[in-house]
Amino acid sequence: MKKRTELLHTIQQQQGFDIVIIGGGATGLGTALDACLRGHSVLLLEQFDFGKGTSSKSTKLVHGGVRYLAQGNLKLVMQALKERGRLLTNAPSCTYTQEFVIPTYSFWWQCYYYMGLKLYDILAGRWSLGATQWLSKNAVQKKLPSLQTSRLVGGISYTDGAFDDTRLLMLLLQHAIKNGAYAINHCSVTSLITNEEGTIGGVVAYDSVTETSFSCKAKVVINATGVFADNIMKMSNAQYVASIRPSQGIHLVIQKKFFAGNAALMIPKTADGRVLFAVPWQEVILVGTTDTPIDTIEHEPQALDHEIDFILSHFNEVNSTQITKQDVNAVYVGLRPLLQQKNAASTAVLSRDHAIIINEEKLLTVTGGKWTTYRKMAEDAVNNAAFLGNLPKQACATANYTLTVHTQDVFAITSSQLSQQQVAYYVQYEMAYTVEDVLARRTRLLFKNVRQALAIAPQVAEWLQALHQETDAWRTKQLQQFTELAKKYSLH
Ligand SMILES: Cc1cc2nc3c(=O)[nH]c(=O)nc-3n(C[C@H](O)[C@H](O)[C@H](O)COP(=O)(O)OP(=O)(O)OC[C@H]3O[C@@H](n4cnc5c(N)ncnc54)[C@H](O)[C@@H]3O)c2cc1C
Repeated sequence: MKKRTELLHTIQQQQGFDIVIIGGGATGLGTALDACLRGHSVLLLEQFDFGKGTSSKSTKLVHGGVRYLAQGNLKLVMQALKERGRLLTNAPSCTYTQEFVIPTYSFWWQCYYYMGLKLYDILAGRWSLGATQWLSKNAVQKKLPSLQTSRLVGGISYTDGAFDDTRLLMLLLQHAIKNGAYAINHCSVTSLITNEEGTIGGVVAYDSVTETSFSCKAKVVINATGVFADNIMKMSNAQYVASIRPSQGIHLVIQKKFFAGNAALMIPKTADGRVLFAVPWQEVILVGTTDTPIDTIEHEPQALDHEIDFILSHFNEVNSTQITKQDVNAVYVGLRPLLQQKNAASTAVLSRDHAIIINEEKLLTVTGGKWTTYRKMAEDAVNNAAFLGNLPKQACATANYTLTVHTQDVFAITSSQLSQQQVAYYVQYEMAYTVEDVLARRTRLLFKNVRQALAIAPQVAEWLQALHQETDAWRTKQLQQFTELAKKYSLH
């Protein structure tokens, strides 16, 4: 991979690109890979770091969406189940199957969930990951040893997929670059270039590392900025009326000792009608999530007190080992880019489907959807971009494209003690630049244990200073910024 300064120079020297993509989350990087595999020239610009947005803050499920089944959205579930199957086949290094158990407290509900999940199996067809099972009370106790059993009748076991969201993102990045795409982080799009005919013909970007601005021409500009999509739409047309209705979801991260066993817990309907998961993930348990409509879109949203209380109280209601705020290693918050729908009573019922919007200025926006369906979103976006930019027609090549890992990457993922060598790898092959890039999205330490992340941050800052040949003042600023950020991930 090119050094950052060389890469930036090369990008600035280009006459223009077929496609410029704004946003380096699942949607943007998925689109970059799809487009370059079809032979289009591609540039992707990410304002902060790849995955800084929602794509690092998911529940880590590769799923069809059991809850959307309950909403009767069979088409969405079927499409997601197919994508689930493809993703587990195409990215075996960072995806796996995960058993889920739904405890039941009446015979009627057990029948209801059994039938619903049998339908989930049927809808998966050849992509099914294993048959749904009816469980006795004893069997549930074995699979979820920490569960309270006083009112328990039995349960249902089903299999879904799980993954490490930012590791998958790094694979998409590496494969996009390997296939000829240019992608750079810490580079934000600040305005759009309008052609004489009034259509969008490029972007103006600002690189926060070198503090320079540059412009790039493009036949098509794709807005893949998730929850920030409205900002870019407004750059193309000041009169644009916002279409994204953001919904916040939080996760509490706790130690495994509070929730024993390998199966995940799924409560499809809490007393107030929400979904609750407790998912074993790497060496921790993720407990979440919430669905809170919010008005202000922030890059690092903050968990609200009532969201924290909701998760703690509902988890403690079903789990025998009680937890308090003191037991929480970390909290992380993501924003769902849900699309505005007339008459929708709450964000929980807004469609999780994706949308491609082409406005009069010919800016292509791809938004909504979920991580599991990023490949399909990318396929639809590039099909539309090819039409819009009159690009050579080429079939999509990602359905069976294997996201192979090279040997060094295996080392970077599996090594448990962070080393200088590993950080050098993240800089050279995954474009990590800041302490946050390393501790939040290359390793997941900030998400798993804020205290441990803070403890190692000075060492990481020192390694990065040496690697980037930076000043002491740079290192001090890096540490200050990371310490400030870490406060948002901590409940203590
Ligand atoms: C709490 C929660 C749990 C979820 N769990 C799951 C799950 O388990 N499974 C699943 O399939 N899906 C899940 N999802 C959904 C999934 O995470 C999102 O749909 C997906 O990550 C959205 O990706 P994206 O690339 O569209 O947006 P993002 O990841 O937000 O990426 C957009 C990027 O654009 C960048 N950007 C913004 N403005 C600019 C600019 N001007 N210039 C350059 N870059 C810019 C941002 O910095 C950001 O990195 C969950 C969502 C939430 C909120």
